[in-house]
Amino acid sequence: MALNEILQHSAKVNQQVEQACKNHNRLAKQVNVLAVSKTQPVEAIQQAIAAGFNNFGENYLQDALPKIASFANTAHLNWHFIGAIQSNKTKEIAESFNYVHTVSRLRVATRLNNQRPTDLPPLKVFIQVNISGEASKAGVQSAEAVELAKEIMNLPKLSLQGLMCLPEATEDFNQQRQAFSQLAQLQTEINQQLGLNLSELSMGMTQDLEAAIAEGSTWVRIGTGIFGARK
Ligand SMILES: *Cc1c(COP(=O)(O)O)cnc(C)c1O
Repeated sequence: MALNEILQHSAKVNQQVEQACKNHNRLAKQVNVLAVSKTQPVEAIQQAIAAGFNNFGENYLQDALPKIASFANTAHLNWHFIGAIQSNKTKEIAESFNYVHTVSRLRVATRLNNQRPTDLPPLKVFIQVNISGEASKAGVQSAEAVELAKEIMNLPKLSLQGLMCLPEATEDFNQQRQAFSQLAQLQTEINQQLGLNLSELSMGMTQDLEAAIAEGSTWVRIGTGIFGARK
């Protein structure tokens, strides 16, 4: 997409989020937009910053690190890792990101905790749940999420925010809502069982942001809607 279209597309995404909040009795300030900048060049991210975004999501570490470095002098940016995590990449993730949305194994959580530099605040993490139970999808099974949450609460350099999911793609609004509702319910159960107050839900992308907001999302992860189709 042409760079100057990013401003218009961003305004449209913000309008969609606002409208979804109105439709479903949510406060707009409780829903954050994570601009998913994977595969996008630095210039596109600069446009998105000009449009008012300051949270960026990246899936591929080697693609992300030079971009993060190029914004080292830009204040108030948060970088979110939202891709699959290989164990040998945890050190660089722990050193360079503010958030990780895709924690689904204790081994990875422990490494991120141990490798988080002591001069940085705890790394904010989400547990990725395989909410649709698809064999091919990443994420912990719903039944194992409580145990993983309990373990993560013992790791002092991690700050558990809540749950994240990437449900089976469907264009059916009610089906979209159902998966997100299950994730929200699971978070309520975890809070009750462990006496926690987890309040963040990372769910919803360009195609299903309204359903996610209807079910309580606090972080919608928007790539295409802001930056256009990826190559
Ligand atoms: C790419 C990606 C997104 C953004 O998807 P769009 O459909 O482009 O909005 C959100 N979340 C994750 C985990 C992704 O990999």
